[in-house]
Amino acid sequence: MRTRTGVALAVLGLVAILGAGAWLARGRIAETAMERLYEKAMARAPDDGLADGLHVGLCGAGGPLPDPQRAGPCTAVLAGKRLFVVDAGSGATRNLSLMNLPPARIEAVFLTHFHSDHIDGLGELMLQRWAGSGSTMPVPVHGPQGVEPVVGGFMSAYRMDQGYRTAHHGAAVVPPSGFGGQARAFDAAAGQPDVVLIDEPDLKVTAFPVAHDPVSPAVGYAFTYKGRTVVISGDTALSPRVEAAAKGADLLVHEALAPNLVASQQRAARAAGRHHPGPADRRAGGSVPGQVAPDLHRQDQGRP
Ligand SMILES: [Zn+2]
Repeated sequence: MRTRTGVALAVLGLVAILGAGAWLARGRIAETAMERLYEKAMARAPDDGLADGLHVGLCGAGGPLPDPQRAGPCTAVLAGKRLFVVDAGSGATRNLSLMNLPPARIEAVFLTHFHSDHIDGLGELMLQRWAGSGSTMPVPVHGPQGVEPVVGGFMSAYRMDQGYRTAHHGAAVVPPSGFGGQARAFDAAAGQPDVVLIDEPDLKVTAFPVAHDPVSPAVGYAFTYKGRTVVISGDTALSPRVEAAAKGADLLVHEALAPNLVASQQRAARAAGRHHPGPADRRAGGSVPGQVAPDLHRQDQGRP
């Protein structure tokens, strides 16, 4: 009994000594943790050392429902060293930074449609791209008809911050002319050929209409760089246009819906007296030719 008490006292003493040591060294511990964070932030970009080619990253794979683990929809496409972003959901810009793909590198943005979860990070993206790059030109924002008021609205919302940033850093660092985005609207109608948005010897970007009823317009995109192609569906039900675009593609990033999880959520909402009609009866699951990014599980509830 005396031995056990002695061991317990020894353990308590050790814990107290360790605790006191950690408390006394707390400043140094915090400093070391911050140094590691800074080192990580300054680490090489993910494309450093990669072969010249087409690379794709998911800077957001969430949906309208809150999820601390996922940002809103965002797909990063690296064509060689050129960075393009498809959709700009909430948190996407921070994810890009965490991926060591600074928003300053973004050459152009492509929006698939105007559900809020696909655009609610656009203001932050445009601001961070401008503030970090010192660009004298706004970032091009391609999108179907309706993109102008979306881009203009975000620019209005961030206009006062533009003034603050310029006053703080100076016009040489953040040229006022580079603020915001330059909306580039196009028509991608059913029955019409794909719309060619970029047509260069090594890079071609096209847009095509998809089926996201009742959301219209809604489009997907295909990027072809040096013989490799990635197709990004945006939100869509099964669509022959996506199938056609994905035929022969190297990678398909496709929206996905888990009807069992949607049904489970609806049951819970019904039980709580908060039921909303779901999209399950008008959207069918299924497979599309091509390769589907394995960790993309968007839960689009059909609500903005
Ligand atoms: Zn949508």
